[in-house]
Parts: sequence; structure tokens; C-alpha cells
Amino acid sequence: MRKSVRITTFLKSVKSSKIIIPPVKRLMSSMESNSIPKEKVDCVVIGAGIVGIAIARELSLKGRQVLVLDSSNTFGTGTSSRNSQVIHAGIYHPPNSFKAKFCVKGRELMYRYCSERDVPHKQVGKLVVATSESEIPKLNEILARGIENGVDSLRMIEASTATRMEPELYCVKALFSPVSGIVDSHTLMLSLLGEAENNGATFSYNTTVLGGQLLGNEIALSVTESQNLENMNEEVPLLPDLILLPKVVINSAGLAAITLAKRFIGLNSSFIPNAYYARGHYFSLSNTKMAPFQRLIYPLPEDGGVGVHVTLDLDGQVKFGPDVEWINGVPDIASFLNRFEYSICPQRAERFYAEIRKYYPNLKEGSLEPGYSGIRPKITGAGMTPCDFVIQGQDVHGVRGLVNLFGIESPGLTSSLAIAEHVSSRVLHSI
Ligand SMILES: Cc1cc2nc3c(=O)[nH]c(=O)nc-3n(C[C@H](O)[C@H](O)[C@H](O)COP(=O)(O)OP(=O)(O)OC[C@H]3O[C@@H](n4cnc5c(N)ncnc54)[C@H](O)[C@@H]3O)c2cc1C
Repeated sequence: MRKSVRITTFLKSVKSSKIIIPPVKRLMSSMESNSIPKEKVDCVVIGAGIVGIAIARELSLKGRQVLVLDSSNTFGTGTSSRNSQVIHAGIYHPPNSFKAKFCVKGRELMYRYCSERDVPHKQVGKLVVATSESEIPKLNEILARGIENGVDSLRMIEASTATRMEPELYCVKALFSPVSGIVDSHTLMLSLLGEAENNGATFSYNTTVLGGQLLGNEIALSVTESQNLENMNEEVPLLPDLILLPKVVINSAGLAAITLAKRFIGLNSSFIPNAYYARGHYFSLSNTKMAPFQRLIYPLPEDGGVGVHVTLDLDGQVKFGPDVEWINGVPDIASFLNRFEYSICPQRAERFYAEIRKYYPNLKEGSLEPGYSGIRPKITGAGMTPCDFVIQGQDVHGVRGLVNLFGIESPGLTSSLAIAEHVSSRVLHSI
């Protein structure tokens, strides 16, 4: 049975469940003076996206009591449901980076998990294509990097071989990655979430973490029902409904993780990176009876993204994207409620036609329809050197039990199970 709870009933529910922990510890005088209820819990995971859910599952499998809080009315409404659903090989990222290591390991874990749990997925393979001679050196670099990252069975193929595999494709050379694939990310999240719940984790939706305060070297979280934030004025300080006193806090709030960390009073702000946002738009292919491609087709990466590529979903639908549009952030509470701008301007299709025709020259005029968009949580901006995932624990900021996850952009979906193992190993000693 589902164990999702509203935060106003959380106090009652924890008092009748296994999650209940001994009486509330005394707080600093500033927090004792008010009548806001306070509760001790073992682990709080902030954010029920793929990464937060995977971490909650991992901690619950290790026997820890976990409470997952999400501001939305269900799980996976953030970036985790606005991506390409590609299981990446791990060819793009610098060797030994978190991105490279977690992508390679996460891919292996994900294929195994999906096979064992019947999560729909398919190892369709991918072609990264050079569409002019001048792009071939870059393709060679990606091959070398992939090999260094330990990606199996990569091989460079001639244009004639590529077009035998994909007759609609134009290229002068291609890098074939047989281990790349696609996954139904919603079913994946549902499966991981169900497992976490079976292991005693509780998911509380419509529950926003407003910020926190360091108490000694631990952190008290201010929590409110999301509906209290409707129509609120960002300038007016809000009183929380509840203060949670966890032994472990995992800040896995995706696009809002940096904003939230800045509201942890007492946390050394010099460790918190700047937030940047890059929206990616998708257009779907219409007016076509048969999918033109059987595999994922990627151009060379561009600044901020991996290029406007072909992705397939598990029922054969084709979409193109995402492009890169650097956008501004939104005010704090709006970011907690995921009030970013996701609409798609149909005129963007013009640029898509031009990009896609470099490798799919037969793309018909009028066949692209606006699909959806997603926003990359970046920690470097336009023209800057791309950054690795940032996962900060006590070793960095000195706060026992706190882990902040920043910049969990692509390949975050592929990496999620490996990130969960890593994060869990860093906090298990605290509980
Ligand atoms: C366009 C695009 C394409 C991508 N394609 C791929 C791909 O093909 N393959 C791949 O591996 N990766 C891909 N990624 C990356 C991948 O989607 C992300 O890395 C992953 O979904 C991040 O998951 P998350 O759990 O960290 O964040 P999210 O899914 O954003 O979850 C964060 C959660 O935190 C909640 N939250 C926020 N603030 C608060 C608060 N104050 N209190 C409580 N809850 C809060 C939100 O409601 C949300 O549910 C892509 C990303 C984008 C943008």
C-alpha cells in the first residue's frame, strides 16, 4: 500500500509508524521560542525525481528510515520527466569525472535493474555522426574518450556502413555505440519508488522545504505544505508548518538545489556554486508512417548540450532535440514549485529543420510539431568549460549528514543508481 502522506498529517502518521523516532531534541533558543512542531527523523531526501528516489531506495535497502519530501503533487514532475530517456554510454565526459564514472556504472546497473524488474527499455544503439570532413577529428576524440572511460564495443564506421544500418542517414563517418539505449523513465521511477516504500520509506508530496538552519553541525529543516505558498509574496518570510531534525539530509532538489542550499542558514556559502539554466526544446516528427531511424542519431555535441539528436521512445515515436537556450532563473519559492517557463515557441522549428537536415536530408517541411521542453540545472554558464556533477558532503562543508547535489544534468538519469550508491556510502556512517 502507498505510504504517501501530507505533511500536516506527517506528525500523526509518524507517531503510528515505524518511522517514529525518540522525542524531539532540544533546539537552539531561537527555534524553541515558537510553537512550530518539531520532529526527529533519520534521513530526509528533498526531491522525488529519479535521483532522490534512487537514493531513497538505496538508503531504505540499507535498513535506514527515509522520508522523501517533494513540493509537487507526485513524484518525477521535474527534469526527470522532461528529458530524452536515453541510457547513455559514457563517451562524452572527462575520464575519472563523476559524470564518466557514474554514467558507465549507472548504465550497467540500470540495464540489470530494468531486466530484473521488467522496466521497459531497449538497447537500441547509437550513431554519433560527422557530417563534414572537418568534424572527423572531434569524432575521433569522442572515441578515444569513450575507450578511456571504459565504454565497451565502441567502433568507428564508414559512411557506407552507417547508411546500410540507417538508410535515411547522411554522414561522412560515424561512431557506433551499441550499448546506448532507451528507458521508460516513469516506470523506472515507479519501480524504484515502490521498492523504497516496501522497505519502509515514506513519500510526502505537496511538501516544500523552505530552508534550514544549522544547529551545531546538524541541520533543522523548515517545511510547509506547498499550498501555503500559492500566491505568496516572495518578500514576506514564511513560517513553516513543521521543523524536521534529520540525522541525514540529501538535497536532491534538481533545478532548485542551489537556491535551497543558499537558504540553509549557517552553511558556508562559498561552497555553493552559481546556478545557470539551459532550456532544451523537443519537436516530434509527424506526418510520417514509419520511423526513419531504428537507432539514436546524434550530431557532435554543442555548447551546453549533446546536440539536436534523434530519440526514439519505446513505441517507436521519433522526436528531435533538445537544443540549448540559456534562460534566467526564477525567484526562490517559484523555483521550489517548479514555476519555470516550459512553453515552446513554434518558430524554433526553423532552426531544428536546418540542424536535423545535416544528417537527415529527407526531413519534410511541415513535419515537426512542438513537443515539450526540459531545463538543465547547470553550474557553469554559456561559453564556460562544462562542469562535473557536484556532490558535497561533510568532507567539503563540514555539516554532518548533509549532502548537496548540484548540477545533476545529463547523464543524471543514466547515472541515478550509481549516484545513489555513492551518496548512500557517504552518509551511512551518520545514521
Ligand atoms: C532536456 C534534457 C534532456 C536530458 N536527457 C537525458 C538523457 O537522455 N539521459 C540521461 O541520463 N539524462 C538526461 N537528462 C538529465 C536528467 O533528466 C536529470 O539529470 C535527472 O532527471 C535529474 O533528476 P533529479 O532527481 O536530480 O531532479 P528532478 O527530476 O528535477 O527532481 C527534483 C525534485 O525536487 C523537487 N523540489 C524542488 N525544490 C523543492 C523543495 N524546496 N522542497 C521539496 N521538493 C523540491 C521538485 O518538485 C522535483 O520533483 C536530461 C536533462 C534535460 C534537461
